[in-house]
Amino acid sequence: MKDYIVNAITSCGSIRVIAAVTTDICENARKLHDFSPTACAAVGRALTAAAMIGSTLKGEDDTLTLQFKGNGPIGRVIAVSDSKANVKGYAGDPFVDLPLKKNGHLDVGGAVGKQGYLSVIRDFGLKEPYVGQVELVTGEIAEDLTYYYAKSEQLPSAVALGVIVDKDLTVKSAGGFILQVLPGAMDEDIDRVEKAIGEVGEVTKLIEEGKTPEDIVSMLLKGYEIEYFDPMEPEYHCDCSKDRMARAIISIGKEEIRKIIEEDGKAEVCCQFCDKKHLFTKEELEEFEKIATK
Ligand SMILES: [Zn+2]
Repeated sequence: MKDYIVNAITSCGSIRVIAAVTTDICENARKLHDFSPTACAAVGRALTAAAMIGSTLKGEDDTLTLQFKGNGPIGRVIAVSDSKANVKGYAGDPFVDLPLKKNGHLDVGGAVGKQGYLSVIRDFGLKEPYVGQVELVTGEIAEDLTYYYAKSEQLPSAVALGVIVDKDLTVKSAGGFILQVLPGAMDEDIDRVEKAIGEVGEVTKLIEEGKTPEDIVSMLLKGYEIEYFDPMEPEYHCDCSKDRMARAIISIGKEEIRKIIEEDGKAEVCCQFCDKKHLFTKEELEEFEKIATK
């Protein structure tokens, strides 16, 4: 099944669900970064969430960044999405691996850590991006996002994310859903979806069984009339360029650039999202030194 995301809303407007299959995204991320299974699950869950939230961005150039910064051995987990739900991401330590938890799941919470912050950064092309921040709850990614929605956006939500890593360390399947109770929902709506969420069970089981995003939506919104928006086909995509890297070098300032020229005579900048190396010659660096404003 090719990766895709569906956005759906009940006809009464009280419940919204986004559901996604993201197996290819997670496998492509794993290949690029050579992730351990635990890191693969951590970043894969974050990428899945970013793609789903990204699919709701309105402006073409809007971007969304999720940053999980806990006290665990993985360091930072970053996932970025554009408005087409194209995503990229990385982990501080892509090789961190922990024993499985008692329930057989990869120990993402142990890798991320329970103390720290989740930042949700929405960049609408304005001067300053909009940043929402909450403390981590479990470091398991989905629970932290659920808490973020309740605390920072006052939007009761259920977030479920799953990445299944096969014995050969490739991604077998990945996906998830975000269900949100919108303002105007009745108590009976809440009771109804809570019951449905309970019946649906673990998201990893659903994606392992090959359920489509529509299957997941109709299970969660059983008994409701459902309206679907056009599905989106997200991909792992890095939009880095030599030009953008040049701007990053220029921003470090004349003094730092001079240091690089004298110490190395060239610069090699590696993109954290795709591992691509961008090379700059001494002549290019001298040009940047001239342009730099500080
Ligand atoms: Zn890149």
